[in-house]
Amino acid sequence: MPALLLDGKSLARQIRAELREEVADFIENNVTIPTLAAVLVGNDPASEVYVRFKRRDCEEVGIRSQLHRMPEESTQEELLALIAKLNKSDEVHGILVQLPVPDQIRTERVLEAISPLKDVDAFHPENVGRLVQNRPVYLPCTPHGCLELLKRNDISTVGKHVVIVGRSDIVGKPLSIMLAQRGADATVTLCHSRTQDLPAVTRLADILIVAIGRPKFVTADMVKPGATVIDVGINRTDGGLVGDVDFDGVKEVAGHLTPVPGGVGPLTRVMLLVNTLAAARRLEN
Ligand code: NDP
Repeated sequence: MPALLLDGKSLARQIRAELREEVADFIENNVTIPTLAAVLVGNDPASEVYVRFKRRDCEEVGIRSQLHRMPEESTQEELLALIAKLNKSDEVHGILVQLPVPDQIRTERVLEAISPLKDVDAFHPENVGRLVQNRPVYLPCTPHGCLELLKRNDISTVGKHVVIVGRSDIVGKPLSIMLAQRGADATVTLCHSRTQDLPAVTRLADILIVAIGRPKFVTADMVKPGATVIDVGINRTDGGLVGDVDFDGVKEVAGHLTPVPGGVGPLTRVMLLVNTLAAARRLEN
């Protein structure tokens, strides 16, 4: 029997509807409107699209968004000065600097400059440290989206062997920490490009999560029959957007599978809204 699809798009719609009510309630009981400030340096077409989507999402749930555009040739000092201003602003609750930034600007410097209380991407070292100690202020959006997708589809991680392929700071690494924490209680294996005999490892997974950026890399023979497969990858190919998982082959083997597009992506976006509302609550209380 083909895998059941984990529909991130409709789940994100449902969470946005819940958020709309929570935001309305917040606005009724406070003097400010939850506000996200997005900073876009340069004219990278993909970044333009991401920022446009994020602003549209904000609008849909009643969160106010600001867009701060800076020219491609902006210096690191100029960007840091803008972040300092946004950190101080009482009108701004969440700050998001769209990555990547141009080469003359050091990403780590930028992420460190955002106030941890306004760091709705949860990339600041303080927020990463808090996550490791299981007392997070904000959860990083893509890992949080993956966990919510599992939770709201009644797929428990407790006692399960979760294999994650990809160890980036924004997806695989934080996800491995979150899944190993008390509460999630998974047994986690974190794989990367130096992992030996990757298919032998992925075949052990009850839940396989793939975030590597290689189109259709995970094939049916790498998946245990009945496993849950979460495909985080987004790859632009001549045939359109595809994930890191060979969807057509793997759907014949897996028990549950996320589509691309329409799987993890919409949930990543919605988690930014969740964090922005949480930031507004923190800063106003
Ligand atoms: P990075 O490029 O930062 O990291 C890729 C990771 O994959 C690295 O750890 C790398 O290993 C590992 N890797 C690469 N090739 C292989 C291989 N052949 N075998 C095993 N491991 C491999 O990627 P990101 O985490 O930023 O993104 C991964 C994918 O997820 C991309 O397609 C991206 O577009 C997508 N993405 C989707 C999001 C969503 O919301 N759906 C959000 C964020 C990202 P090593 O460390 O050894 O180099």
